[in-house]
Amino acid sequence: MLALRNIKKYYTVGGTTTKALDGVSVSFRRQEFVAILGASGSGKTTLLNVIGGLDNYDSGDMIIDGKSTKDFKDGDWDAYRNNSIGFVFQSYNLISHLGIIENVELGMTLSGVSKEKKRQHATAALERVGLAEHMHKKPNQLSGGQMQRVAIARALANDPDILLCDEPTGALDTETSLQIMKLIKELSKEKLVIMVTHNPELAYDYANRIIEFSDGKITNDSNPYTEEIHDAKFKLKRTKMSFFTALKLSFNNLRTKKGRTLLTAFASSIGIISIGIVLSLSNGFQKQIDKTQTETLSKFPITISQITTDQTINQKNALGSDKGSYSNKKEITPKQSEQDKAQHVNHINQEYIDYIKKINPSLTNSIGYSRTVAMNILGDVNGDIKPISFSNATPNSGGSMESAMSSMTGIGISSFPTKLNNDSKDFLKENYNVIAGEYPTSATDIVLIVDRQNATNINALKNIGLNVKENEPLPFDDIVGKEFKLISNNTYYQKIPTGNFIPNTDYQKMYDNTGNTTIRVSGILRVKSSSSMNLLSPGFAYSNELTAKIVDENEQSDIVKAQRDSNKNVMNNESLDAQAKDNLLAYLGGTSIPSSILIYPNNFSDKEQILTYLDKYNKGKDKEDRILYTDLAGTMTQLTGGLMDAITYVLIAFAGISLVTSMIMIGIITYTSVLERTKEIGVLKALGARKKDITRVFDAETCILGIASGSLGVFIAYATTFPINSLLYKLTDLKNVAQLNPKHALILVIISTILTMIGGHIPARIAAKKDAAIALRAE
Ligand code: ADP
Ligand code: MG
Repeated sequence: MLALRNIKKYYTVGGTTTKALDGVSVSFRRQEFVAILGASGSGKTTLLNVIGGLDNYDSGDMIIDGKSTKDFKDGDWDAYRNNSIGFVFQSYNLISHLGIIENVELGMTLSGVSKEKKRQHATAALERVGLAEHMHKKPNQLSGGQMQRVAIARALANDPDILLCDEPTGALDTETSLQIMKLIKELSKEKLVIMVTHNPELAYDYANRIIEFSDGKITNDSNPYTEEIHDAKFKLKRTKMSFFTALKLSFNNLRTKKGRTLLTAFASSIGIISIGIVLSLSNGFQKQIDKTQTETLSKFPITISQITTDQTINQKNALGSDKGSYSNKKEITPKQSEQDKAQHVNHINQEYIDYIKKINPSLTNSIGYSRTVAMNILGDVNGDIKPISFSNATPNSGGSMESAMSSMTGIGISSFPTKLNNDSKDFLKENYNVIAGEYPTSATDIVLIVDRQNATNINALKNIGLNVKENEPLPFDDIVGKEFKLISNNTYYQKIPTGNFIPNTDYQKMYDNTGNTTIRVSGILRVKSSSSMNLLSPGFAYSNELTAKIVDENEQSDIVKAQRDSNKNVMNNESLDAQAKDNLLAYLGGTSIPSSILIYPNNFSDKEQILTYLDKYNKGKDKEDRILYTDLAGTMTQLTGGLMDAITYVLIAFAGISLVTSMIMIGIITYTSVLERTKEIGVLKALGARKKDITRVFDAETCILGIASGSLGVFIAYATTFPINSLLYKLTDLKNVAQLNPKHALILVIISTILTMIGGHIPARIAAKKDAAIALRAE
């Protein structure tokens, strides 16, 4: 069955070597009750541990069922302990946080026996040792004798071939000792029982064979035996513990120290709490910023006007702001101001217009094209036909080119974009409510824009011929439905014999001309309350289509043709430079190229795409040919967004430090737990647990701790958002700023689990490496 040939085992501690086993040769029969007698320190425990595969011998040979253990790997030893050996210790070594039945089942748990079978075997083993009625108790509810019976039941449960008992009655009174001895004697009928004792009486009364032991050597054997060589196949079933079993084991352990577990989880959750709060705050602030940005966006289109500022030119060294030393020179240096240098003229041409038209229509709701074309409009002022205008200029300064131009650039424009396709939102309907009349339905419909108090520019009203006084109310009906006549250049200007063109003065005749276009005020519009800014200036506003239509009509008119061919103003013979000629032509409707383009993106990411698209146009172009845009909303929000990110990173870095601290703490706590559970590690090993299984038990424990601290941290962070929000609301009027994103919450729990598992893994490995024999000696 089992043979030892000249086994030697030495221990060296601090330079002194002990011969624990000094050449032991002995064979055991398949069924017998062997008692090993010897003084304390003679090497009895060492012998049992070597036989049981808990301690490695240094030299010699051990033969189990005809097979030498020389080639045994760790896994073979684990399987051997689990399948063939049952250990019974002097101090019982029950795992206190597991119930009686679970203690008995532990060996089978390690070898992966099914739940029902486990229960069945464990119950049978407990019945055998006479403890059936105590099955559901905890170890600390039993007497010493009962605990030793549980230990015997545990050793029996897996039906081992060899039962190793190390002073099983050493801690028991005489009467109980006798009961235990009877039980062991009973078992020796079917198994090989090797019992170590220092009590010769018990040994002689019960054992069939007495081996006397002294200084690591056998001095006497009452019934020697030599095993014949045979080649019986020795088979072992491998052990394995599932992670779930490890979890259950650790969960039970943590349950017995609830207070400490909770405190640990709380302490290590502080890092998670701080990161959670930082994230929910930055998340909320980012949402607020995004909301404001989207609102702003509809008010601030990307603007491409004829004259713009090159933002890339460094304006730091502006004239007059230098800080260098004073000059000693008796002379002055002429310099161009930085503002002048930064000024850029955009030469918008057909190529660019075509490029703009190719912008992906899903990115923008509307693109506005403003033109500086003059409108020849006549109105019926109390039966009197007079030229009128839709500008906010002071009356009688008369729709000059300058005022027409100034109203076309940037904010405060008077022409609104028309929607690109049927799917896109209408600019007017998005931002303005009708308070009288209706939204424009055609290019020739114009609207009056008023502010929230229904006020509008008095000049606009005077310019259409109304006799109004400041603050004197005007009924809606005086304006809604009013009609004017748009006169084409060919009707409006007449060529005089000198070859010059002058405006006709017979207004009534021009007014009655059948070729005129009728312009109607379709309604009065007011900025929506949700929009915080009025993009269109109070006064009359008309669609881009109207100006496009006028240009279309007048591009080939006589005055335009004549002006194209002349370098002098065809009306008054003033000489013109190229720029002035271009301006005059645009004013007369001779250029179809718009003077400025306004692009209204749908949202921020769409805007980014549009800007990238616009930047692409300038690639590889000379400085003069580049077309620069102004992105006011972007300039405004760039700063806030970047700042927000920076603050978040800094705060997370700080919170991260506390997370690392938690991780180190978990490591220390796991290490303490390893020290505390040394005996349990020994028992698990004696029952055949692999190194991996031991690591798993502790990994499982830190996993539970990590999930617990992560969830607790996330929960506390979530709970904290409520007082934070009410405080912020009081301070800033912003609602629900702190919002914990569920995705962040999940990620935090996962991070906490991973970090604590990393922190606990090193102590877990230390635990797995612990020498089982030493672990069990620890008391
Ligand atoms: P017994 O069980 O007969 O009292 P042991 O087998 O426990 O004796 O010990 C035999 C000898 O080996 C003793 O001198 C003991 O100090 C030594 N010994 C046992 N285990 C260790 C160990 N892990 N480290 C160092 N010395 C040990
Ligand atoms: Mg001993």
